[in-house]
Order: sequence, then C-alpha cells, then structure tokens
Amino acid sequence: MNNIAEVLDQVKTMGIAGHIRPDGDCVGSCMALYLYIKEYYPDIQVDVYLDHPKPIFSHIDCIDEIKTEADTEKVYDLFVTCDVSSRDRLALAGDYFDKAEKTVCIDHHISNPGFAGTNHVRGDVSSACEVLYGLFDPEKVNRKVAVPIYTGMIHDTGVFQYASTSPETMRIAGELMKTGFNFSRIIDESFYEKTYIQNQVMGRVLAESIMLLDGKCIVGYLRRKDLDFYGVDGKDLDGIVSQLRLTKGVEVAMFLYEVESQTFKVSLRSNGKVDVSRIAVYFGGGGHTRAAGIDLQGSLHDVINNITGEIERQLLLCQEA
Ligand code: AMP
Ligand code: MN
Ligand code: MN
Repeated sequence: MNNIAEVLDQVKTMGIAGHIRPDGDCVGSCMALYLYIKEYYPDIQVDVYLDHPKPIFSHIDCIDEIKTEADTEKVYDLFVTCDVSSRDRLALAGDYFDKAEKTVCIDHHISNPGFAGTNHVRGDVSSACEVLYGLFDPEKVNRKVAVPIYTGMIHDTGVFQYASTSPETMRIAGELMKTGFNFSRIIDESFYEKTYIQNQVMGRVLAESIMLLDGKCIVGYLRRKDLDFYGVDGKDLDGIVSQLRLTKGVEVAMFLYEVESQTFKVSLRSNGKVDVSRIAVYFGGGGHTRAAGIDLQGSLHDVINNITGEIERQLLLCQEA
C-alpha cells in the first residue's frame, strides 16, 4: 500500500481499533486515522474502538467519540487495526474484525504474522503512527491529525530517544510541528508527568529491584497486594521499565506486575545485545527487538526464572560469537 485511499474505494462504513491496554502509539494512530477519514472522506461512516484510553490523551481532538464497547451488531465494509501485533491482541472489536468485508492491518511489530487481508507492516519503523503518516497525503495532515501522530511518535520513541528513531522520524516530526501545536506541553503532560502515587510506586520498584546474570539483567516487580496497597493498576506503571533499562551495565530490563493472582504482565527492554522480541514470542508474547511484552501465568519466581533463562542463553550466544 502506498496511500490509504487505495483501500477506501466503495467503502461506506469503516471501523478502526487498536490493541488491549492501548498505549500512546495505539491511541495516536487510531485517532489520527479516524480524524483523517472524518475530515477528508465525510461520506464514510467511521467508528473508532479503544479499550478505555488514559486521560493523558485528552488533548487529542474527538477523543470523547471513542467507542469503548462493541455492543451493536454491525458488519463494516472495512476494518483497520493500528499498532496491533496479532489477532488475539485486538481488544474489544475482534468480532467486527472477523465479520468485516475487508480488513487492513497497519503496524510496526517485527513479530506481526500478517493477520489481515491487507497487511502494511514495517518492522523497522519506530511507531505505527510513523507508518500511518506514510499512507497519508502530507498536505492533508492538518493540526488535528498531526497532534495524535506526534503523540504516538513521542510515546514509542521515548521522545526520540530509542534506537528505532531514524532521520525520517525526525523529518516527519518536523513536518508535524509546522502545523503549530504546543509540543512541549504534549511531551510533559502525556509522557513525563507522573502523579505523586505513580512516583512512589516507581521508587518502590527501583528500591526493591534485583540484579541477575552478573548485573546484565535487572528485574523489578509488583505483586497484586502491592498494587492494591497503592491503589494503582497497569495504567499507572508507564516509565518504570524504561528507568530500569537505564541502570549502568544492564543489557536487559524486566518489569512485571500481577494482573490477577498468578498472572503476570511482563515488559522487556534491551540495550541492543539481546533480541527481546524473540524471547517474548517464545513465551507467547510479541513486540520489537528492544521492547517486547508477554502475558504469563505462574508464580513470580517461576516467571522471572524462565525468562531470565532465555536471556542468559542469548547472552551466552553473544559471548561465543
Ligand atoms: P510493553 O512492555 O507493554 O510496553 O510492550 C512493549 C511492546 O511489546 C509493545 O510494542 C507492545 O505492543 C508489545 N507487546 C506487549 N505485550 C505483548 C503481548 N502480550 N503480545 C504481543 N505483543 C506485546
Ligand atoms: Mn502499542
Ligand atoms: Mn507501537
């Protein structure tokens, strides 16, 4: 695909959806596509489905039009997923996807098997928002559309910090800035700002973190009772694994929290030597070479042990090479 227009022919109804626990790139890409269609294809009836986006995305236009329930019987002419790495990660709109006449997947996960009718997946691009921008007419990207794209780009690049950031990422960010919005405010309020409780929780995870594999792997964790004690959930834990990754000498950072009893959400970050996407896929998750995630069952101890076993295997292979 070179332009989104290629899949819009004859389309009268269109649905858009992202992955479970939507992050900035997911909300940004879904909303940018939604706003672009609303603006330039007014004859298409478009809906966007996202699983309760966080209040930090309230600066995005029409955010209150997001449907958080898939409660009506509908067969869409076209259903598009943005930032979704596999069919089972599609949140509440899975049924609409399965029934739609045409399906399109716009993504950047290296682990994406290509689960839609048309798959536009660029594993080397830093965000789904950047992939999506490439499918728009640049002159049609106005401020309304630019804001969610910019938001997604800063979230998935850690404000242009991660190795996935390319000259093209920076060029596009420059083009978006030209539409005129308060980018430093978006960066502060949607990415860096934490509540007092969120900072306390991060402090606790850092204080109780453990170093494994001769200091090459750092592990931070929160048990169900800790989450309940602070009254926080997954939405409040952004940034913790990134901070762990910045520990000197560390190759891989792992952060896990207990979603429900004996079920853990694991985040992995690599500084380059270890391909954490491979480890995540091995355990049924997915992601990118330097940032990946898994949902796993078991005791805290077993989950940590099993994953660090795979990290150790890759580190040993690096040493031999
Ligand atoms: P996270 O650690 O949740 O920030 O996720 C890092 C990257 O891995 C993101 O691009 C996610 O989309 C992807 N990811 C996280 N969890 C999973 C999972 N269970 N299955 C597939 N991909 C995942
Ligand atoms: Mn995402
Ligand atoms: Mn993404």
